[in-house]
Amino acid sequence: MITLKNIEKVYRTSSIETLALNNINLDIKKGEFVSIMGPSGCGKSTLLNVMGLLDEPSKGSVQLDGQPVKQYKDKELARLRNQQIGFIFQSFHLINDLSVLDNVEIPLLYRATNGRPRRDNAQEALEKVGLSNRMKHFPSQLSGGQKQRVAIARAIVGNPNIILADEPTGNLDSAMGNEIMNILQDLNNDGATIVMVTHDEQMAKRTHRLIRLFDGTQVL
Ligand code: ADP
Ligand code: ADP
Repeated sequence: MITLKNIEKVYRTSSIETLALNNINLDIKKGEFVSIMGPSGCGKSTLLNVMGLLDEPSKGSVQLDGQPVKQYKDKELARLRNQQIGFIFQSFHLINDLSVLDNVEIPLLYRATNGRPRRDNAQEALEKVGLSNRMKHFPSQLSGGQKQRVAIARAIVGNPNIILADEPTGNLDSAMGNEIMNILQDLNNDGATIVMVTHDEQMAKRTHRLIRLFDGTQVL
């Protein structure tokens, strides 16, 4: 589904060069649930951003369903991101002055889905994460676990091929973290491909495969 070949990512600031990813080779298969672990600064977020077509590698190739993404212009990349990839972040990234339902509809606005099907799809996504009783609430009225469930509904509303989650349970206590993990596992059992960055060995154990990074390099 996503293939990374000899990926290198260098960040250059005026005085410092950081080799954030060094010769990464990865193949994420359809239906897999993969976790990524490693110390702070080892390149986990960079790796997820490269996979999610948010960040361009300095060297190497990214392939989506066998197609090198280098061939696409920015506009096509944005469309691919919107249609194929759902993102979940540690700090939720909800829009505070939009209702839960409106937050979940956002990815569909981009596709110019009409009002009624947009609302139906958003409601369906909220049902999947057990939040159909909170649709008219605003993010400030929700617990952390509920906010993350809204973010998951937003990530899945457009039926993406792959879900990329950057420490989705990092801001939650263990009970809420487990709830979020249960939802991700259910989505995976229903066929979703998921790549998740985590600091939690217990969460990583619940996935199919663990990738460990150290200083930008994959370790066994
Ligand atoms: P992790 O997610 O594992 O904490 P990151 O991928 O965020 O690691 O960062 C990897 C390395 O790249 C770190 O040394 C970090 O300081 C550096 N880095 C990340 N983003 C940037 C950036 N935009 N500009 C310069 N350096 C960056
Ligand atoms: P938790 O203990 O799980 O963190 P909270 O105590 O934050 O949960 O919230 C408990 C319940 O009350 C949640 O279902 C949440 O939706 C609801 N709630 C919290 N704050 C508000 C509010 N300001 N207005 C309406 N409902 C709220």
